[in-house]
Amino acid sequence: MSNICVIGTGYVGLVTGVCFADLGNQVFCLDINKDRIDKLNQGIMPIYEPGLEEIVERNIKSKRLFFTTDYETALKDAEIAFIAVGTPSGVDGEADLQYVRNAAETIAQVVDHPIIVVNKSTVPVGTGDWVADIISQTRDSKKLDFSVVSNPEFLREGSAIGDFMNPDRVVLGSLEREAAEKVSRLYEPLRAPILITDLRTAEMIKYASNAFLATRISFINEIANICDELGADVREVAKGMGLDKRIGHSFLDAGLGWGGSCFPKDVKALAHMAVLHNSQPQLLQAVMDINRNQRRRVVYRLRKVLGGSLNGKVIGVLGLSFKPNTDDMREAPGTEIIHLLLNEGASVKGYDPQAMENAAKELPKIQLCDDPYQTAEGADALVLATEWNEFKQLDFEKVYKLLRTPVLVDGRNLWDSQYLRGLGFTYFGIGQGNHV
Ligand code: NAD
Repeated sequence: MSNICVIGTGYVGLVTGVCFADLGNQVFCLDINKDRIDKLNQGIMPIYEPGLEEIVERNIKSKRLFFTTDYETALKDAEIAFIAVGTPSGVDGEADLQYVRNAAETIAQVVDHPIIVVNKSTVPVGTGDWVADIISQTRDSKKLDFSVVSNPEFLREGSAIGDFMNPDRVVLGSLEREAAEKVSRLYEPLRAPILITDLRTAEMIKYASNAFLATRISFINEIANICDELGADVREVAKGMGLDKRIGHSFLDAGLGWGGSCFPKDVKALAHMAVLHNSQPQLLQAVMDINRNQRRRVVYRLRKVLGGSLNGKVIGVLGLSFKPNTDDMREAPGTEIIHLLLNEGASVKGYDPQAMENAAKELPKIQLCDDPYQTAEGADALVLATEWNEFKQLDFEKVYKLLRTPVLVDGRNLWDSQYLRGLGFTYFGIGQGNHV
């Protein structure tokens, strides 16, 4: 059993805290957002994540899990403090480290016992050293016995608890082996491979992994676009490629491209780091360009099929979160497409199973609907942006009647094109051999 403090109760911090509590540790989860902490103390989850509520409740009852906004309370007995605050994109694509700085400074001000500071946030290579400097400088002459460990997180929103509890690997980086080993003991019950490296290597593993996954998606999207021109079907192409053990099947689904709170900012930050250190990240630039264009192609396609202009047209969009099973809309493909449509003078109706509260804030100019059918009603086209389960088996005869013009853009290759064309729809998938 260890005493742990987790700073930041977002998708990563909250899941990390509750999972470590569930593994038998005493955990204080801390956030500067009072509303978030008040909600958590009342048993209300500030984010949607399957399975989270139950595990929070169980650990609060067992008195292993506490929520607070007070650094002194949270760090009083902490042997290990995880920093899991946001690292959003700055103006130039660089990671904005103001929240990490603030967390590190406050640890240095509050703690007076030996402590291991673990960076779980995704941070640029070199940030571990920078955090160590901040702590030392903040303490000035009053020395603190501390070590810094990098422990990048690889969980995915929507399956975060399962991913945390069953990771493919745990990466720990430190210049002090003993500190990394102490943190590794927290993960031992998970029986996952644990890789201990130096600080900078661990930080780079996270960026390289996300950039590689984004590259796979942009790669298959580029192939999809070529398939459209040449009459091949990217779904079969991906299947045929994936059967090769050297390639594998994952992250080869053509669609509207990657989004979310991680890939866009991490690829940008890696490219920024590269340029700053005299490398030319040509592949990363192409990966980002392809992704941006993937959204634009939908608008181009709609404009073409709807008579050359979208001005005055009504477009329904199904799926506003960046992927299924989350309410997170950060850099969601659907949101980007909606902005492009609004810019062209279209009106937009939208629906999402979980992201409606966020959508009301993020997309004030669109009409939010109660379900897919209301979204289709009177629309000139229906665009599927996120492949939620509930969109898999719509009553398409009803959708056909509700739409003003029966145009479907299946941005996730979710639906049966043959069946839908049989019903009379003009159907577009991604890379299914339809010319743009
Ligand atoms: P988030 O935006 O959901 O949550 C961050 C939380 O930190 C917020 O609640 C905020 O109030 C709090 N915070 C900010 N400054 C603070 C401070 N000084 N003290 C205490 N709390 C503070 O972020 P997230 O999605 O959980 O991501 C956190 C980090 O983990 C990022 O670096 C991200 O790149 C990385 N990451 C995210 C995911 C993911 O799927 N979301 C996966 C892997 C890694």
